Amino acid sequence: MSKIKDQALVDALIEQFNFEIESGFIYFAMGIYTDREGMDGFTHFLELQAQEEFEHAEKFYHFLDEMDVKIEFNGIEKPKADYESFLDVFQTALDHEREVTKRIKDIYVKAQEVGCLDTQEFLNWFLMEQREEEQTFEDIVLRLERINGNWGGLYIFDGQLAQREN
Ligand code: MG
Repeated sequence: MSKIKDQALVDALIEQFNFEIESGFIYFAMGIYTDREGMDGFTHFLELQAQEEFEHAEKFYHFLDEMDVKIEFNGIEKPKADYESFLDVFQTALDHEREVTKRIKDIYVKAQEVGCLDTQEFLNWFLMEQREEEQTFEDIVLRLERINGNWGGLYIFDGQLAQREN
């Protein structure tokens, strides 16, 4: 018997578990694209980002497990394999993170409506995390807009993104 009494809230949390996995697939596929285009730093950054998304999914899994909710996997949509440019990659990533933020906030509001304090407490970390994720990708998009497809600039930035540690 689930400790979360509202079924719509349970469904939304399971959906978000799946969406975090889908996010991981999207970034993994983006990294494969940048690898194909010969950008080792972008690829390294996106591989770490993909791993982070699987860790987010695990956080949802552990919380749902504590709440005695049975997890179910949805089918994962096939991620996009090709992009117009590196700016297109990271603009798509930024748009994706904004969508994640919106979904987390919707679940939070739902949890407030039904008075589920455990879910609200659990999601607090994600609210903070999403502010950071959006900031990270906004900074990258701005840099790439300024670089404007210049290969010299792209290689310098590629070297910088290669420094990401976790
Ligand atoms: Mg995430």
